Amino acid sequence: MTATRPRGRWAILEAPRGVLPLYLGVGLAAVVLVAAFPGHAPTDQDWVRSLALLVVSCLQTELSLGTEKARRYLADRPHINMTSAWMFGGAVVLPAAMAVALTVITYLHLWLRVWWPIQGRPAYRVVFSAATVLLAVLSVQPVLRLFGADDVLRADWQGSRVLLALVVSLLVYTTVNGAPVAVAVKLHHPARPWRKTFGTKAENALELATLSLGGVTAIVLVTQPALVAFMLLPVIVLHRNVLMRQLEEKAAQDSKTGLLTAEEWQTRVAAELVRNARTREPFGVLMVDLDRFKKVNDTYGHVAGDAVLRTVATTITGQLRAYDSVGRWGGEEFVVLLPQIAEQGACDVAERIRTAVGDLTVTVSVGDATHEITDLSASVGVACFPDASVTVDGLVHAADERMYRAKRAGRNTVVSGTE
Ligand code: GH3
Ligand code: MG
Ligand code: MG
Repeated sequence: MTATRPRGRWAILEAPRGVLPLYLGVGLAAVVLVAAFPGHAPTDQDWVRSLALLVVSCLQTELSLGTEKARRYLADRPHINMTSAWMFGGAVVLPAAMAVALTVITYLHLWLRVWWPIQGRPAYRVVFSAATVLLAVLSVQPVLRLFGADDVLRADWQGSRVLLALVVSLLVYTTVNGAPVAVAVKLHHPARPWRKTFGTKAENALELATLSLGGVTAIVLVTQPALVAFMLLPVIVLHRNVLMRQLEEKAAQDSKTGLLTAEEWQTRVAAELVRNARTREPFGVLMVDLDRFKKVNDTYGHVAGDAVLRTVATTITGQLRAYDSVGRWGGEEFVVLLPQIAEQGACDVAERIRTAVGDLTVTVSVGDATHEITDLSASVGVACFPDASVTVDGLVHAADERMYRAKRAGRNTVVSGTE
């Protein structure tokens, strides 16, 4: 979360190894490249185009202050910046030095009006984000040149060729922008798989949508710079919709563990019931309760207990397939939905979860001391559709009742309908 990021002027010195060279390298590359390839000297037309872009970029930031601040509070992943519509448009039609100046001004504006007031981002991250965007901006003209001309939007070019040139430069832009960010995410979170460092499908779709608006902006700029005002509303509305989606995601997420809330999880079970009502294809539900968890709190305190809950949440998720859903039912109880699985398969997953929890070692700091918490265990109840029940409540009740049977049988065990 934003609030736990290191702050202060020298926060970068506390960053993981490799971050400083990466950030310096990207920053230096941006400076050197723009100095070496500034593009042609600006014409009057370039000044008009860059002024039009500057106006819409400033207006968009000012009209979206609330949206952008709210997104910053919610974000815990690389952030898709909607101003990239203007940055990309500028990269296509302006000489490199001018497109770079536009990017720097836009980032300064965002930093002064949004990021600095909410104190959520160390300055070095802002500089790094801006530098990755600069590299992306600088990559566009060479790609366009590959297609035979700097001025890809010349009147005598055929539409299909313009489309191809813009699509390729858009893909190169997003890759050059995203790759250093992915490396930075990996350095900060080494355990995260590479594929997750490039953002979700929805985030990439948003980035492409924003850049597509940038492509249209470029064409509008070439024909009628003043009409670029028409691009403002689509970008602002897209931005608001993104915030709505982030709020929905947040509402569906348990704040302590990042798992689904009980309500959201139940909604997914209900959807699974609807899907399988006709076919009667089986699916499984697990209720996982940590054994003697009160003792962990009593011994190490609730902060340590929370750290254990988070680790258990990650451990359970690690045992599941991408399309399984795991939620926090409450306290130290977790629920799992396993689509397309019958009783034996569900029992195998439950057993894997039980073993993984038993193998855990959670390192916690209490005051000045560090402790290693081991000897964790979980009791798991398994219920399957349609054998146990054909309603959400019935399935949860059956899994819960079996979980309590596991407790009575001595804990650290799995109980299903076949036992
Ligand atoms: P059992 O094996 O019977 O399940 O024993 P237990 O101690 O796990 O169960 P009990 O229901 O007696 O206690 C559950 C404990 O979980 C009580 C509470 O302190 C702890 N707990 C519930 N929610 C949280 C939480 O959000 N954070 C922390 N740290 N502890 C929690
Ligand atoms: Mg318990
Ligand atoms: Mg409990």
